[in-house]
Amino acid sequence: MSMILKCIECSKEYSFNKIRYECDCGGLLDVVHDIEQVKEVVSKDLFDKRLGSRAFPYFSGVWRYKELILPIDNKYIITRPEGNTNLYNSKKVADYACIKVKNLFLKHEGENPTGSFKDRGMTTGTTMAKLLNSKIVACASTGNTSASMAAFASVGNLKAIVFIPEGKIAFGKLSQALAYGASTIQIKGNFDDAMALVKDASLELNLYLLNSVNPFRLEGQKSIIIEMLHQLNWEVPDWIIVPGGNLGNSSAFGKALNELREIDFIDHLPRIAVIQAEGANPLYLSYLNEFERYIPVKNPETIATAIKIGNPVNYKKAVRAIRWTNGIVEQVSEDEIMNAKAIVDGAGIGAEPASCSTIAGLKKLITKGIIKEDEKVCCILTGNLLKDPDATVNYHMKKLDGFDIKFANEPITCDADLDSVKKVLKRIL
Ligand SMILES: *Cc1c(COP(=O)(O)O)cnc(C)c1O
Ligand SMILES: [Zn+2]
Repeated sequence: MSMILKCIECSKEYSFNKIRYECDCGGLLDVVHDIEQVKEVVSKDLFDKRLGSRAFPYFSGVWRYKELILPIDNKYIITRPEGNTNLYNSKKVADYACIKVKNLFLKHEGENPTGSFKDRGMTTGTTMAKLLNSKIVACASTGNTSASMAAFASVGNLKAIVFIPEGKIAFGKLSQALAYGASTIQIKGNFDDAMALVKDASLELNLYLLNSVNPFRLEGQKSIIIEMLHQLNWEVPDWIIVPGGNLGNSSAFGKALNELREIDFIDHLPRIAVIQAEGANPLYLSYLNEFERYIPVKNPETIATAIKIGNPVNYKKAVRAIRWTNGIVEQVSEDEIMNAKAIVDGAGIGAEPASCSTIAGLKKLITKGIIKEDEKVCCILTGNLLKDPDATVNYHMKKLDGFDIKFANEPITCDADLDSVKKVLKRIL
């Protein structure tokens, strides 16, 4: 099996086994597989057989699809294992979004080992670090990337260095980076500042960069789509809805879908809808002018810290994915995100704020008539409920200033005697 790196701008090709993050022309790189070869070795039957495996490496929801992702020697693979996330139906969520429950699927990537889809990109990213003989991995992060990289680096005995914007990442995520043992550098700036710094530092100090500019991360993230379609017996939904931050997922989804069509696993592509927060919406703004002009957002602001990104690294690949899939971009407000989150959480499923922008986006797109009630939709819930306890608790305790909170579930304080408890119960039952 073979693969190469290829520039998406000028098509210049590079070997995959020398470290490189971008083309000499500055363009982003794709991992290009020999699709004819892939087609010969994989089949739906093969993937079905592996689905029953409890053994390394096919017990992973990423490495099960190895030939489509990273066809390398198993000895390099660093895995928890990851993936194997559930696809949910929820009447409560469907009712909220005004869609029929049988048409709505929620793929919960928060069920990955470190609580976000980033694990699917980190298993491939850290595996490439091993293959390339790098000993130190680095990333800038709004939180989940660092949590994930820290864990996989530890499993693979690599040193991990994370750059995070000081005071701006969710508590659960910061605690993970520290707990898994990464050296954690808090930059006095925002994510985009941290990203620029880690890029420079990686080149000068020979750190292996594991942000989603690294094309091997996106190969791992393709497995969200491959696994989801496998779960749907390769029946293509009409829409896939995903939050857009650095736009790694949006990019990976487009590539995965194209490749699945090339190997004849599917015969048409679903449409991708990328959802951004109003305060961090550079892709949305450029979508409005048909991607003629791209202007980064200077001071991105949103409670959904995982998508609080003003200058997404994968902008050009995401535009390509939207064009390939006849996709769209929508934006949602802070209120819409948090009220949708209360519904997803209250349905017993739960996810972090950024994830719930997908449900807010779905509701909006159905209201606008862009998504039809009888179309099949898969929303990607990107991260776990426990990642951002502050956002959740402050919402329910009505401590989010300026928010129009619709579904608060406030805790009740009660004296420590049975009479008081009875009074309270009488009131609420
Ligand atoms: C990283 C992340 C995102 C943003 O994904 P991109 O691929 O950067 O667009 C959204 N939600 C969660 C929970 C994340 O961790
Ligand atoms: Zn180039």
